[in-house]
Amino acid sequence: MTATSRPPEDRYDVVIVGGGAAGLSAAVTLGRALRAVAVVDDGRPRNAPAEGVHGFLTREGMSPLALLEVGRAEARSFGATLVDASAVAARRSSGGFTVDLADGGSVSGRRLLVATGLTDGLPPIPGLREQWGAGVVHCPYCHGYEIRGRRIGVLGTGPLSVHQTLLFRQWSDDITLFLDDTVAPTDEDWDRLAARSIRVVDGAVVSVDAAGGVLTGVTVRGGHHFDLEALAVGTRMKARSALLEPLGLTAQEHPSGMGHALDGGPMGSTSVPGLYVAGNVSNLSAQVVVAAAEGTMAGAAINADLVQEETAWAVEGLRGPFSAPLEAEVSDRVLGPRRHGLDESSAAASTVSKAGEGVRRAG
Ligand SMILES: Cc1cc2nc3c(=O)[nH]c(=O)nc-3n(C[C@H](O)[C@H](O)[C@H](O)COP(=O)(O)OP(=O)(O)OC[C@H]3O[C@@H](n4cnc5c(N)ncnc54)[C@H](O)[C@@H]3O)c2cc1C
Repeated sequence: MTATSRPPEDRYDVVIVGGGAAGLSAAVTLGRALRAVAVVDDGRPRNAPAEGVHGFLTREGMSPLALLEVGRAEARSFGATLVDASAVAARRSSGGFTVDLADGGSVSGRRLLVATGLTDGLPPIPGLREQWGAGVVHCPYCHGYEIRGRRIGVLGTGPLSVHQTLLFRQWSDDITLFLDDTVAPTDEDWDRLAARSIRVVDGAVVSVDAAGGVLTGVTVRGGHHFDLEALAVGTRMKARSALLEPLGLTAQEHPSGMGHALDGGPMGSTSVPGLYVAGNVSNLSAQVVVAAAEGTMAGAAINADLVQEETAWAVEGLRGPFSAPLEAEVSDRVLGPRRHGLDESSAAASTVSKAGEGVRRAG
């Protein structure tokens, strides 16, 4: 990632924390809406361990970091300022929000978008973390095609494991579910697993094994090793949202049982006015293209929100006791053609004020 200078502005229209697919897409939308945008990012996208991004139309197999570099360049080309830093806290400040950075600095904006993604909690089995994103995968739509027809194991981690096992069966007829002393299939589950010819292995998995950096299988308690070419794991997902605690927003247990997420409305709005969310921080199952789309939608919602505020200011200015259009109107009525030395023909023209350029007053 290229180094970025400190933010050159005191206050942006929008501060975005998180420069993954969601945050950068929002930055592009807002930059194209001529908004002053800062993106604070500390360079740890969730899919960094993976070799390529799959399922993103037109970008098949591109490296996750290369994809974001293109996104960063695009955001910059529309005027966004990229700040390489960790955000530690977000708080209310005059007319908006201030984000405190780990290095002691801060960035302020009228609106705040948090697109910080999530962390994947992995079972603490020796050897598993080393294979994460390579031999150990989680998402059938991200990796299923690449491991189609292979010998696939599914590590039981909770109530969703049977569902995950049945999904991976779509890509291979050689599937084994390891219960790992964690999953207790119901009678109906046993029937469904048997009907799809899925093997089930009882007992704790004590290691994930590899040779030369390539996954070879797992070993269960008692020492029996099972050969595998890929292992699927359901992770415990947790929104990266600690910075929002000062604003009273915390991640909540998601009804799906997949982990903790922030609660976001349809266009990313939250219970805190002016604060928006997009991507994995509020949608645990969003793939890259979905996170990007949510960023775009949130960017549009934020711009509409700012337009509404600016329109309200303009109307207030128009109606206020010392507004330029009102003063022009009074002057017109009192002085008529004598005001500012105008002759009668020019004074007859409609009043157009500086504050309300292009706005014609009635009367
Ligand atoms: C191993 C693996 C492989 C995957 N493969 C695929 C795939 O092939 N196809 C697919 O569609 N999806 C894939 N995914 C899912 C993909 O990672 C997510 O869909 C995507 O990353 C969500 O984008 P996001 O912008 O919400 O979050 P992220 O991409 O995680 O971006 C969040 C950004 O915010 C930054 N950040 C977080 N906290 C702070 C902070 N406090 N201060 C500053 N910056 C902060 C992070 O550093 C990061 O850059 C994969 C996931 C994993 C784990």
